[in-house]
Amino acid sequence: MLTRYLLSLLCLVFLSQGCKQQNTDDVVFDTSFASARLADIEKTANNKFKANVLPESEPINPSPWYAFAVQAEDSKTVQLTLDYGEYQHRYVPKVSWDQLHWTSLDTAQFVLDTLNHTATLFLEVSSRKLYVAAQEIETSADTYAWMEKIVGEHPEIEQLVAGKTVLDKDNLALVHELTDVEDCIVLVARQHPPEIPGGTIGFKSFYETLFSNTEIAKAFRENFNIYTFPLLNPDGADMGNWRHNANGVDLNRDWIDFSQPETQMVKDFVEGKVKQGKKIRFALDFHTSHSGPYILVLDSINELKTAAIIPDWIKKIDSSFSAKVEVRRRSQELPYCYNYFFNVFGAESVTYEDGDETNRDTIRKRGQVYAEKLMQTLMTKQKNGAFSN
Ligand SMILES: [Zn+2]
Repeated sequence: MLTRYLLSLLCLVFLSQGCKQQNTDDVVFDTSFASARLADIEKTANNKFKANVLPESEPINPSPWYAFAVQAEDSKTVQLTLDYGEYQHRYVPKVSWDQLHWTSLDTAQFVLDTLNHTATLFLEVSSRKLYVAAQEIETSADTYAWMEKIVGEHPEIEQLVAGKTVLDKDNLALVHELTDVEDCIVLVARQHPPEIPGGTIGFKSFYETLFSNTEIAKAFRENFNIYTFPLLNPDGADMGNWRHNANGVDLNRDWIDFSQPETQMVKDFVEGKVKQGKKIRFALDFHTSHSGPYILVLDSINELKTAAIIPDWIKKIDSSFSAKVEVRRRSQELPYCYNYFFNVFGAESVTYEDGDETNRDTIRKRGQVYAEKLMQTLMTKQKNGAFSN
């Protein structure tokens, strides 16, 4: 009995440190992989467990990310209660065998208790490892593998180390640039680790559309340089953070102070290009919201000073896509990425928000349509001399 108790205690210690350990009744929880997050896993009854979903630091935007794998010798249903502490459940649990194909748990498979801030998941476990996460898992290795593939298909894209992260990892950018082309767009994605729907799925679809073989895409690439930061917060993504980088800072509140290496890197890169004579004409920053999809745009006073790319682009989207664009305005004073591009370079810019649980095919389609219509709009503006300065 004592041995059993000590073993169980050891398991809990290992589990809370993120190590893979077997529980006493053959149910194994694994939190050792990149992006994993689950703490203090505890057995409360036969096949019943409880665990904490804790943020990396506080104060923090309430976006409780969790990710773990679970397996057992015998096939059975395991009940796991996620305790969010002072926060509320946000993301519908997704499950996968291979970290590539994911399905949302249906409503019969999890029960929310908003009074006690918990979600109880009913998981069909077996000897095959089942991944469970708040959204599809996309580690830095996943995004970098996608970048390698794109660069393989388009050798004219340069992949470069634009800077270092807080944890001293390489932070990568994709650069598509022609020497005699001045007009540029900038894409920034995934400042916030859990925001896979817009920040990764939508962003990738948007980017792939810019590099498709359509006539508009080919013409666009000959007339606009494309500077891209596909995963601005790789440390946060691999740590399974709710929101912050490895210093506990929300990167999308750091575009006035530039206190972090990740935001400073984009500033140095873009300002270096501007010094070389390049002109930033448009910027997009890809995110996800529980109330998305929508687009954050310039406030109305500042919109009057522009070449009206944003209203023309939105009109084009609305005429060809079933879901109308929801526009939200924010003050230009906020330290958000898109405000930096307008305030410093006069470039029109938006925050692109998709929705937490929006159908993934719809997210991909939105990325494609928004990219096509932006290319058309920018090409028309350029031909009409809107960028003559
Ligand atoms: Zn965000």
